[in-house]
Amino acid sequence: MRRICRIGLLLLVACLAAIPAVRAEPVVEAAFDLAIARFEAARPALGSAFAGVDIAAYRDALTLRRFVSRHWGGTIALAVLTPGAGETACARYAAFVRIPPRQGSVALAFCPEFLGAGTPDLRALTVLHEMVHVVAGADECRAMAFAARVEVLATGRFTDVGRYWRANGCDASPFSLPEF
Ligand SMILES: [Zn+2]
Repeated sequence: MRRICRIGLLLLVACLAAIPAVRAEPVVEAAFDLAIARFEAARPALGSAFAGVDIAAYRDALTLRRFVSRHWGGTIALAVLTPGAGETACARYAAFVRIPPRQGSVALAFCPEFLGAGTPDLRALTVLHEMVHVVAGADECRAMAFAARVEVLATGRFTDVGRYWRANGCDASPFSLPEF
């Protein structure tokens, strides 16, 4: 009995020790926290879907890192990764997603550039943007339109993404940025 208790205690200690590993990257976690605050402030005005993004799925993905997806089908887990500079995609992106899901999981990776540069606002915007890809696929115009709407509803302003918007031909897309 004592032995079982000791094993239990060891497991408890191991579990507690594992918690910081899950939330090991404070910059990423702070970006998620601010993105969640922005999304929650905006949520009442977003309805059940906005720009083709299922709001309940988006909320679960952002806050629980697990969501039931009508887009991908089934329950999807979100794996948040912080690869090193050796990751080739980090040469081009500050953050990126691996979609479609593999074995029920989508990976969202934050590169050294994300961790080392930018502002809290930009990092939260990146999370809001990438989470659209996690939930609703690769469309850049959708991701920009959704993230800008959340920003403007939460803060009254949104980050200027005009250049990226035009580079992706988004004026011809079904999506739009908020009006100033
Ligand atoms: Zn994107």
